[in-house]
Amino acid sequence: MIPFIDIHCHLDYLQDPEGAIKRAKEAGVGVILTNGVSPITNRKGLALAKTHPEVKAALGFYPPDALEGFIFSEREFQEELAFIRANKKHIRAIGEVGMDFKDGKDRELQGRVFVAMITLAKELDVPLLIHTRKAEELVLGLLDREKPKKVILHCFCGKKALVKRASDAGYCFSVPTNIVRAENFQQLVEMVPMCQLFCETDSPYLSPFKERPNEPAFVVESYKKIAEIKKLDLIEVKNLIYQNYQRLF
Ligand SMILES: [Zn+2]
Repeated sequence: MIPFIDIHCHLDYLQDPEGAIKRAKEAGVGVILTNGVSPITNRKGLALAKTHPEVKAALGFYPPDALEGFIFSEREFQEELAFIRANKKHIRAIGEVGMDFKDGKDRELQGRVFVAMITLAKELDVPLLIHTRKAEELVLGLLDREKPKKVILHCFCGKKALVKRASDAGYCFSVPTNIVRAENFQQLVEMVPMCQLFCETDSPYLSPFKERPNEPAFVVESYKKIAEIKKLDLIEVKNLIYQNYQRLF
């Protein structure tokens, strides 16, 4: 059976990761890519991946989150890069990484960390899962310059012209479950070819159901919306996205 895939979530942020993994399996979600953003979350994600065959780990370093409770030194950053390298066998991607200028903090540091993470993804030959907010143009410019081969832009909220630019560059997008009400993601799905789309929950965020926190089982809502917009059967969408997964990962 071809599985549904949640290409981006934060299992360790959920209240009951074990229950969420079980419900995902029941919903036909066979691949859950949990993303780390800091040394602590990287280790939690890795532990979940080692104990559940359907959970895969992406390890990352994401300054806006990491900086909240964690001021890191250059040495600590280099140690984390070494930790990720040492776990090469156990990871499927580098993520979550990126740049967020929502509150405009640490722009120069964010750029340096992001470029180091792109370099690491190239070295390990794994995809990058990239967050960007209010820094879309800068991020696309850095990607053009650094040329990583496998790029997935998660929850990309850039303007249409930037969606077009990223799509023309061959980058993939992962479509979050709040597409059920977010028109910008519906337009993105119209513009981007099927061979460049993935689905994600970003659990516990971006829930398709207002009254419930998100979890990987709900990724099916993104698939359904894509099927509706692209005028395809749900099974076709599932097969096409699985092909994208096999090509990139
Ligand atoms: Zn995320």
